[in-house]
Amino acid sequence: MALAHAGSRPVPISTVRLDEAVEASVLEVLRSGHLAQGAKVAEFEQRFAELSGVEHAIAVSNGSTALTAALLGLGVGPGDEVVTSPFTFIATVNAVLATGAKVRFADISARDFALDPASAADQVGERATVLMPVHLFGQTADMDPLTELAREHGLHLVEDAAQAHGARYRTRAAGSFGVGCFSFYATKNLTTGEGGMITTSDDVLADRLRVLRNQGMRARYEYEMVGHNYRMTDLAAAVGLPQLAGYTQQVERRRRHAARLTERLSGLPGLRTPEVLPGRQHVWHQYTVLLEGEAAMDRDGLAAALAEQNIGSGIYYPHLASDYACYRDHPLVQVAETPVAREVAAHCLSLPVHAALDDDDVERVADAVSAALS
Ligand SMILES: *Cc1c(COP(=O)(O)O)cnc(C)c1O
Repeated sequence: MALAHAGSRPVPISTVRLDEAVEASVLEVLRSGHLAQGAKVAEFEQRFAELSGVEHAIAVSNGSTALTAALLGLGVGPGDEVVTSPFTFIATVNAVLATGAKVRFADISARDFALDPASAADQVGERATVLMPVHLFGQTADMDPLTELAREHGLHLVEDAAQAHGARYRTRAAGSFGVGCFSFYATKNLTTGEGGMITTSDDVLADRLRVLRNQGMRARYEYEMVGHNYRMTDLAAAVGLPQLAGYTQQVERRRRHAARLTERLSGLPGLRTPEVLPGRQHVWHQYTVLLEGEAAMDRDGLAAALAEQNIGSGIYYPHLASDYACYRDHPLVQVAETPVAREVAAHCLSLPVHAALDDDDVERVADAVSAALS
């Protein structure tokens, strides 16, 4: 098998492919001489707000600063507690700690890899002020019960939607339930190289965030609050803006690839394919399988078998945030037992699903996984 594919072209876990519209848009900004935040950012914000079904989108320098700014904008700081998932990219946790608030980890569901509402409820104590679900891999968390939990306890809902641009839960988009935080890092579904966006329909919060990202400055040298430079450049916005026009088609391709992988891989012993839960629209940032007890090899074995055939895969994420000493031993981190998250972190593997794959690539991925696990 390895020989048959030895000369075949790589199937990477992610590919950045930008078209001529992006090149033209970047050139326009370069030639204008206006590189910092300006008209392109404003237009990108407008279009992104439409995608997310919110009143306001505030562009920032990356997804991590989106999370930090969102929390600061809500007034979160020392003494507050934020309930979130330990099965996430570490920026989720870093953003909370940057505000001086405490992190409380709750468990996830193995069906959507996101906060389990019952476990989250267990972690909501007296000092909790924020519920922060992570919409992992392109599917939203279970937002009805989480929204209800937040409402019941008067918590702010901050969505880490870094991987879920345009994902939907019933009639609403990711980032429209509370304050949405998105990333446009190079490998995300939409990219500006580095970039981020905060979404909200709260006029007052939106205004505060716009001032906060610009050194707390309303007009030149009129400082209203302690701020920061969280701005996005027009150059970055010029990369992102043209991608929105084709985003529906991109997601359609991801969806088709995911459906084909599931069709080919269902029933392989010990392999659990990802679910699309009722009422949710997945945008397939990652196609993540779980390798369970009876599988012919574990996830590291499968990753190696795929690599032999020039097929990429990724382990997102190999450990829980709470397993790293710098977080586990941190005075502001409250570690709880999260057995589901622990199991998932030990057995997950993401397979290529992105839009730059063609149908043959998808068949090659399915062939290789089937051969390894049959
Ligand atoms: C990418 C990502 C972030 C951080 O975004 P950056 O733009 O890389 O700072 C935060 N949370 C999750 C879940 C992510 O995947």
